[in-house]
Amino acid sequence: MPVTSADISAAIRDVPDFPKPGILFKDITPVLADPALLAGCMDLLAEGFRPGDIDAVVGIDARGFIFATGVALKLNAGFVPVRKKGKLPYETHAESYDLEYGSSTVELHIDAVKPGDRVLLLDDLLATGGTAAAAVNLLKRIDAKIMGVRFLVELGFLNGREKLACSEVRSVIQY
Ligand code: AMP
Repeated sequence: MPVTSADISAAIRDVPDFPKPGILFKDITPVLADPALLAGCMDLLAEGFRPGDIDAVVGIDARGFIFATGVALKLNAGFVPVRKKGKLPYETHAESYDLEYGSSTVELHIDAVKPGDRVLLLDDLLATGGTAAAAVNLLKRIDAKIMGVRFLVELGFLNGREKLACSEVRSVIQY
């Protein structure tokens, strides 16, 4: 039987007050540790795309790397990292975005994809959407063609999707 989003949802562990009071952290490590669920995540995230449809799957630092790599292998595409500031060795574009307190910056190598390349952007979780919106802006700066933005988990009540209105957004599990 194929893995369903309900199977994956049942394995996600809620950790209250991590990393700070008031945050209910969605811990996906039990999903990753189960080989059937791990493979199921890649199948569900890649749904609708076939090998040849996508040139590069872009993953957001750090849990997004796990899913982007698995989906890239399924779609016969390359993997490209969007990283937190200061981690990429070559020349980068940078985008800053607001957090609840302060701000953060993500970076992308200037030659990570060629103009017009078809990319799929992935992360583990969509919360306020600030991180993913910054990644979308980076991809636009290098003229990538964004074919979709996908997440394993979406915290729908935070309306992160509104920040990504220009792209096709999908999530496997919604809370
Ligand atoms: P945001 O920019 O608010 O959409 O936050 C998304 C990023 O923060 C993702 O890379 C998630 O890994 C992480 N994140 C935010 N909230 C949570 C949460 N409740 N549980 C797990 N990860 C979270």
